[in-house]
Amino acid sequence: MSHAENCIFCKIIAGQIPSKKVYEDEELFAFHDINPAAPVHFLIVPKRHFKNLMDANSQDEAILGRMLTIAPRLAIEQGCRPGESGGFRVVINNGADGGQEVYHLHMHIMGGPRPWKKN
Ligand code: 5GP
Ligand code: ZN
Repeated sequence: MSHAENCIFCKIIAGQIPSKKVYEDEELFAFHDINPAAPVHFLIVPKRHFKNLMDANSQDEAILGRMLTIAPRLAIEQGCRPGESGGFRVVINNGADGGQEVYHLHMHIMGGPRPWKKN
């Protein structure tokens, strides 16, 4: 499935719902979280709609790899501090028990000067 009806993140990707865009290419879209939990908090999403890691398959391996490898570059661009004294957190919530609220796979990138920790 490339697009799901009534999916808020598909609508953000399509520009039907406004967002503060961080990055876009043919396969990925990144935008600031509307309710940030850290000084830097944005989401990286694949443009192709799938629900979460439990819904991923072999055709998603490349895009999942790209999400991880682009994360440091975008994190630094957005103000996360470089090096071992800086860094950022990566979170993917999966399903109700994983605390997932939006069922279009997304990776949270959170960082910036502490204290911001919510565990
Ligand atoms: P989840 O709990 O599914 O991992 O996280 C969903 C995230 O999406 C939440 O952190 C929430 O603040 C964010 N979010 C939900 N709706 C919107 C929206 O319309 N725009 C933006 N930018 N973020 C959203
Ligand atoms: Zn979607």
